Amino acid sequence: MGNRSELVLAIDVGATKIAIALVDQSHQIIDKSEVPSGSNPDLWSDLEKAVKALAGAHLKELSGVGIASAGPIDRISGEISPVNIPGWRNFPLVAKLRELTSADRVVLHGDAMALANAEHKVGAARDIQNFLGIVVSTGIGGGLVLNNQLYLGESGNVSYFGHHIINFDESSTCGCGRRGCLEQYARGPMMVERASRHGWAGDDFKTLAESARTGDSAAIEAIDYGSRALAIGCINILQSLDIHTVVIGGGVAQAGDVYWQPLRQHFINESKAIGFLKKIDLIPAQLERDAGLIGAALALA
Ligand SMILES: [Zn+2]
Repeated sequence: MGNRSELVLAIDVGATKIAIALVDQSHQIIDKSEVPSGSNPDLWSDLEKAVKALAGAHLKELSGVGIASAGPIDRISGEISPVNIPGWRNFPLVAKLRELTSADRVVLHGDAMALANAEHKVGAARDIQNFLGIVVSTGIGGGLVLNNQLYLGESGNVSYFGHHIINFDESSTCGCGRRGCLEQYARGPMMVERASRHGWAGDDFKTLAESARTGDSAAIEAIDYGSRALAIGCINILQSLDIHTVVIGGGVAQAGDVYWQPLRQHFINESKAIGFLKKIDLIPAQLERDAGLIGAALALA
């Protein structure tokens, strides 16, 4: 028994950090902190300490815990195996958090699925019935809202969208173990690598975008190639589901016109032969900062 607080704990499990926050009923972040993830050998104990420090007196009276995690995940068992956190394989995060907090509800969503949910509930896609939500950054993730509802999938892995294959002749292997995944062509670091092979000097996507803005041909070509891959990957999904709206967020999408211009053009080129996809709406995501945490909290809504 005891009084339940109106606060929820939101946890966003990413490849380089786990962000945690206390979120109130109007989706405002009250307080937050983070722990480094990746190959951190003490990840669970670090996370446990951070949760205790953040929640303080509220730890045992939270009204719920919402998790947005990099995939793959298992929504049913509550276990996660993020590709870029090698120490966590079938890690029982839901059970661990239930034990730590005594919350009645601990809900697990994929990271990009959570972002799509956040954009639908409080962001750019509030009035949209059907859309594909995409995150383009170090990796590629997706989420789906269909008939005005977040589509959860049978195992919860709609976010694993970046690992559908767009080139079955690819010779290099993706981090997921297959070859020719969308993510291998469209993620930010791939565009950086491609430009470097063609003589551009620099080491992150932000710098690459700056170079493209000043007319660097290798930078422009690499962004054109990566944005074309993303358009093809998205159109595969739009065509399969017969929907016409995409909401795009993530670090790469924040580069502005230098990315969006070729992206819009490739969406037009790649879809023009598909009669029923004549008008694709491309919408920039609205919630940039903290979108993952808000999406994690919304998993409980
Ligand atoms: Zn892959």
